[in-house]
Amino acid sequence: MKNKESVSRREFIAATSAAVLASHATTARSADTSKLALNGGEKAVKKSPSSVKRWGDLERERLNAMLEQDTLFYWKGPQTTLALERFKKLYPLKYAHTCSSGTAALHIAVIAAGIGPGDEVITSPITDIGTVIGVIYQQGVPVFADLGATTYTLDPADVERRITPKTKAIIAVHLCGNPSDMNALKAIADKHKLILIEDCCQAWGAKFRGQPIGTVGHIACWSLQNTKHITTGDGGVVASSDERFGPILQKCGDKGADRLKGGGFHSFATNYRMNEPSAAVFAAQLERLEGVASKRAKLGNLLTEKIAGIPGILPHQVHPEDRCVYWFYFMRFKTEAFRCKRAEFVKALAAEGVSCSAGYISVPLHREPVFQNHGFFAGHWPVREMGLTTMDFTKHHTPEVEAILQNGIRFTIHEGMTEDYILGAAEAVRKVVKHYAV
Ligand SMILES: *Cc1c(COP(=O)(O)O)cnc(C)c1O
Repeated sequence: MKNKESVSRREFIAATSAAVLASHATTARSADTSKLALNGGEKAVKKSPSSVKRWGDLERERLNAMLEQDTLFYWKGPQTTLALERFKKLYPLKYAHTCSSGTAALHIAVIAAGIGPGDEVITSPITDIGTVIGVIYQQGVPVFADLGATTYTLDPADVERRITPKTKAIIAVHLCGNPSDMNALKAIADKHKLILIEDCCQAWGAKFRGQPIGTVGHIACWSLQNTKHITTGDGGVVASSDERFGPILQKCGDKGADRLKGGGFHSFATNYRMNEPSAAVFAAQLERLEGVASKRAKLGNLLTEKIAGIPGILPHQVHPEDRCVYWFYFMRFKTEAFRCKRAEFVKALAAEGVSCSAGYISVPLHREPVFQNHGFFAGHWPVREMGLTTMDFTKHHTPEVEAILQNGIRFTIHEGMTEDYILGAAEAVRKVVKHYAV
């Protein structure tokens, strides 16, 4: 917190005279509050949100403790041990391991799940490419399913339609921090004997029917990359309570070597270890998690409450018993309800002081050039060339996903925002909708 007393006299005078000028301007213009800021009207958002300081004394304390150690290596490292203890208090999973990224966590999960050449893994095409990097490295085949129109999580019916005798696993991505329908996905996984992996990278602190996210599936993965709710700059966690997978997670992220049992290399994996400096920061960040998650949940839900029922707009849909932690807020814009295109609508919202942008990733993953060319390994995709899969990404269709990316509008949500900001943002939506409605 910045000390208010420290504001200099000059800054004070500058700020107050600006405020006087602004209040005059307000009275002069108050005749027409419906005029878009884009056209010179008054902004709906009166005060832009302040940025947040995401690390400080908690991290300094852990890092100082770490500097007194005689090792910075993860195995039996005090920071790693503490971080995982704290993690397990929040996430009651029997086995948990740190690793170098969310991508690494997901790769470790598919190695542990035994995904091999030609095995199909059904997942979301709107996600970070890290969701499928591990699948492709294990010579598995990502199969992209369609998503719920306003939940942005896997549509269980479409997942079931895409199951073949080669399907081995499902990776449920809790996009934007919104829990997937884990009851439906778990039922499908059980029925077809599939392994259910949870990608919780955008969902730190989210809850499914009151339970911490990551505790329904067989293996769960988190990212600690800089943009996530809590961070070590880069890092990840992989965890499981399943006796088939939990005990091998460590070696699947540590060159295939089991540090408890020893005894040579019986399995193969790469080095995805996290070091003690990162683990020190992770341990501290976990103490901030509940504050970050609950604040974001509250702000996002408030936005929904305030924009619900506005014609032409579909709010982010969250199950009433779940906690969505809004890595960002995603709403849909019904193209036919407006006289303008999405780009113009977003420009008008931004002019009102709303932190927003059009869409998310530009195209579904399977429409990216490397998928379209099936050129993952030096221009080749061995499993396809060897006839272990007939997957052709140029013929892969997920219609709802296309529509989501074409008319979704993304709002920044972060813990430094106030309820006032959200009320302003909702007012901006109302104002811009009114202006452009057909
Ligand atoms: C960030 C992210 C990843 C990858 O995490 P990294 O730490 O960047 O490797 C995977 N899946 C989702 C949904 C993500 O948001």
